[in-house]
Amino acid sequence: MPGDWLIDHQERGQTYLAYRRNRPVTPDRAGEGPRRVLYVQPIGELGLAHAGVVADVTEYLSLFFGLEVKRRDPLSLDLVPTKARRKRRGTEQLLSAFILDELLAPRLPDDAAASIALTAEDLWPGQGWNFVFGEASLEDRVGVWSMHRYGDPDAEPEGRRRILRRTLRVATHETAHMFSLRHCTAYECVMNGANTLDESDRGPLWLCPECLAKILWATDQDASVRFTRLAAFARAHDLTEEATFFQRSAAAVRVVP
Ligand SMILES: [Zn+2]
Ligand SMILES: [Zn+2]
Repeated sequence: MPGDWLIDHQERGQTYLAYRRNRPVTPDRAGEGPRRVLYVQPIGELGLAHAGVVADVTEYLSLFFGLEVKRRDPLSLDLVPTKARRKRRGTEQLLSAFILDELLAPRLPDDAAASIALTAEDLWPGQGWNFVFGEASLEDRVGVWSMHRYGDPDAEPEGRRRILRRTLRVATHETAHMFSLRHCTAYECVMNGANTLDESDRGPLWLCPECLAKILWATDQDASVRFTRLAAFARAHDLTEEATFFQRSAAAVRVVP
């Protein structure tokens, strides 16, 4: 569609073999190093609905990547000085670079494969920008994403489900970037780039076969177990289309003895 990511971004994609050849950053394998934990770091106060979304995202990340995921205590907004705040059209915004460099990077635990911060506050990335949905530092393995523009969390049940789906998508997409996956150009995939929320909403929550192979290798997971668990999560959270896809995938990859 006009305005979609691939119209104005020249990307060649990344095959499974190219991924393996490029010495990707991955979590350490069991027994081979400490970096095996994903951290979810809330920033600022979260209302009940947003806190529920963060709890659900924490569980989903552990199923998606097959890693231990720990939710940390929220970091207070008092840690953000006035030079990293501003007001735009009556809404306070936080400077995403400050959160990455000053709040997240220095607090990255030794056993962290990556740390993902989620906030209900609005973000901006610096001069010349109105806002940003999120920003990551692949080198430092930290990222921050805002749920502020994902909709009204109290508009039950559609509003909460929409925010959950959007947050699941951004959290898995960006974590996979931290494990050196590039944008996917060959298939409909959670790793497709997106210019707008609408384009992102049209994309699936799941990985295409090529990106799935990368993640299964990078995180040393069994595909059938992973799909069965993701299907149960999707069913429990009324993500009907996803539940069907994950269930079918679980059946398709099951090895008949
Ligand atoms: Zn991306
Ligand atoms: Zn893909």
